[in-house]
This record gives sequence, C-alpha cells and structure tokens, in this order.
Amino acid sequence: MTDYTIKELTDMVRAFCGERDWDQFHNPKDLAIGISTEANELLDIFRFKNAEEMMGLFKEPKQREHIEEELADVLFFVLRFAQMNNIELKHALETKIEKNAKKYPVEQAKGQNKKYNEF
Ligand SMILES: [Mg+2]
Repeated sequence: MTDYTIKELTDMVRAFCGERDWDQFHNPKDLAIGISTEANELLDIFRFKNAEEMMGLFKEPKQREHIEEELADVLFFVLRFAQMNNIELKHALETKIEKNAKKYPVEQAKGQNKKYNEF
C-alpha cells in the first residue's frame, strides 16, 4: 500500500482531466454536483440493507469493488473541486477539525452521536 500525499492525488486528477481538456467543463457548480451525485451513488449501495447486510457488502469482492469505486469517484471530485478553485485541502480540513473540536468538546461528545446543539 502506498501513502500518497494530497498533492500527488491532486496531480493525478489534474493530469487525467488535462489530457481530456476538461477544465472548460469543471466550474464550481458542476464539480459540486459531481461530489453530490457520486456521494449518492455510494449511498445507494446501502439502500434497504439492514446492519448485517451492509457489513456483508464489504466481504463480497464485487460489492466491495463497487463501494471502493464510488468512494473514489467522490474523492476525485473533491480533489478536482479544490484544485480548480485553489483550495488547500489540508488547511481546509485542519481548520474544520479545529472548529468541530470546539463544537464537539470531548467531555460532551465522547460516546455520543448527538448534534452539537443537542448537548
Ligand atoms: Mg460513480
């Protein structure tokens, strides 16, 4: 297993799209639609599955491959959105985690699945 940096992953996506001259189509709206659409394709895999069936999907090679592909599609659009709009993902993620740490203090959030305004 190789650990790629965000930059390496972004460069892969940039090269793929560059070779196909797709910059012209990748405006913020359409890339955000791509993120949402692919996230929903991932969600659809789990539709009508109970807890046991959901976990079974990961053990069945074809289903696992499907999950991995839809997850990769989401990541592709996230990386592409950030790349096309000069968003540094590491900074964005660190900043958001810092904000979430304040919204979800460990003392209140540990072992809870409540939203921050329900504490
Ligand atoms: Mg897909």
